Amino acid sequence: MANETIKEVVCPRCGETQEHKIYLQIYTAKDPAVKQQILKETFFNWECPKCGYVADMTYPCLFMDIKFRYALLFMPVGNVPLPELPEQLSGYTKRIVRTPAELKEKLLIFDSGHNDVALELVKNALCTTVLSKYKVTKLKALFSREKDGEFEFALFIPDKKEPIYHVLRSEIYQESLSILDTLGFEEKEEFLQVNAKLATKLLAEYEQLE
Ligand SMILES: [Zn+2]
Repeated sequence: MANETIKEVVCPRCGETQEHKIYLQIYTAKDPAVKQQILKETFFNWECPKCGYVADMTYPCLFMDIKFRYALLFMPVGNVPLPELPEQLSGYTKRIVRTPAELKEKLLIFDSGHNDVALELVKNALCTTVLSKYKVTKLKALFSREKDGEFEFALFIPDKKEPIYHVLRSEIYQESLSILDTLGFEEKEEFLQVNAKLATKLLAEYEQLE
């Protein structure tokens, strides 16, 4: 299959028609510029060369890392056709992500050699604590980095523009890993969505065991 395709885009501001390159599969380890764009959450930005208008243009795309052996299938929410998937991804950690922020988070987690399922359990514990503290009902936590044995998370609270950063000691991560061990959690060959919903499901299963 072709690795890229050209799509015509009409600028919503100036009406100019532009050709835009769409990537279907990307090897991130070979392309540091792409990695930087993912980290800045600008990979799916489209900029009109004529008037400078910037639009968010997401489309299904597969990001693969041959060094850390993971594959991230970016699938925006909605009825979009699944891109053709290569068969040589056996043994890779395979994830589905829905937003540029989730894509960035997975890249940060896997490039630092961590387990994203365990980190979802950590985030579940963190959100439970923080929800009552800020008296909110909704909260989104994203892993941001590990520093000096501590894990930092960015917490996005509705109506607040900037995230609040929280740091947790690594013990809770170790505990989460042992919970997964107890549950016998194993990677499968299909693409998995590892998010807050999965964490809730796994923790419920774990409570049943106790
Ligand atoms: Zn324009």
